[in-house]
Amino acid sequence: MRKALEDLKNQAIEEIKKISNFSQLKDVKAKFLGRKGELTRILKGLGSLSKEERPIIGRIANEVKTFIEQLIEDKERELKEKEKREKLEAERLDVTLPGRRPLIGGFHPISLVATEIIEVFKGMGFHIAEGPEIETDYYNFEALNIPKDHPARDMQDTFYIKENVLLRTHTSPVQIRVMEKYKPPIRIIAPGKVYRRDFDISHTPMFHQIEGLLVDKRVTFSELKGTLEEFAQRIFGEATKVRFRPSYFPFTEPSAEMDIGCVICKGSGCRVCKGTGWLEILGCGMVDPEVFKAVGYDPEEIVGYAFGLGVERIAMLKYGIDDIRLFFENDLRFLTQFS
Ligand SMILES: [Zn+2]
Repeated sequence: MRKALEDLKNQAIEEIKKISNFSQLKDVKAKFLGRKGELTRILKGLGSLSKEERPIIGRIANEVKTFIEQLIEDKERELKEKEKREKLEAERLDVTLPGRRPLIGGFHPISLVATEIIEVFKGMGFHIAEGPEIETDYYNFEALNIPKDHPARDMQDTFYIKENVLLRTHTSPVQIRVMEKYKPPIRIIAPGKVYRRDFDISHTPMFHQIEGLLVDKRVTFSELKGTLEEFAQRIFGEATKVRFRPSYFPFTEPSAEMDIGCVICKGSGCRVCKGTGWLEILGCGMVDPEVFKAVGYDPEEIVGYAFGLGVERIAMLKYGIDDIRLFFENDLRFLTQFS
């Protein structure tokens, strides 16, 4: 029995030495000291010993027990120390590392292009005018010579809020509001958001327009052409060619669309210009006398021109972007290319 206790002690020393985590420690503790452990098993045999031997073996057994307990306690302390060291190591901070820089914001490409366009027209003496995005049918359509049954209403898919109240489909109602308020001469540009029920590679339900209006006693179509040609060359480069094609808008007469020489193929024909060498960039014309009548101007005395362009369209051509939806996805990989 003495021998069994001695062996148990040596076995415990060996096994405790090998322990490397708390779960192993728990197992070993149960194995040697537990109620079903080795020591208990040996002590069960005490009864078979003689009266003289019993206290001696009992004392040795107690010594072995205390010894193993001490080993386990030491091991436990060692493991705790180790765990603490590892945790500190893992959480160690290098305070000499430079901090993370906050991202520096930039203007959205639409804002950049809008600002550039606005600057061109401001340089030509135009003032900025603004109006509400929620409009009445009157300002969005009627006063612009688009009565209820007018086929031009089909050209624009309108978001109605209720009867006669809508999200403006163009910035043209700003013209009416300005002319109602001021007498000629007027020379404004109206930048802003407009809304139409449309969504595909070249349309989004909200987009940006810049509308121009010049009203005075003597204004000619050639002045309009000169102004817009200057604009196109300032935005797309000195060598940009323009052409005007007859078109139709209810609020201008005569009306035209302006094309620029294709910025991609320089006029030789490509996918973007559909092989024509030209890209349509805006609509324009001389203000229709009916519009002047609606705001109380005398069309016999007053003439004017107006034009309107889509900022996204200009931005797409300027930057060679082929999907308008990219502007509204807020993907930093896209947006940071413009700052
Ligand atoms: Zn082309």
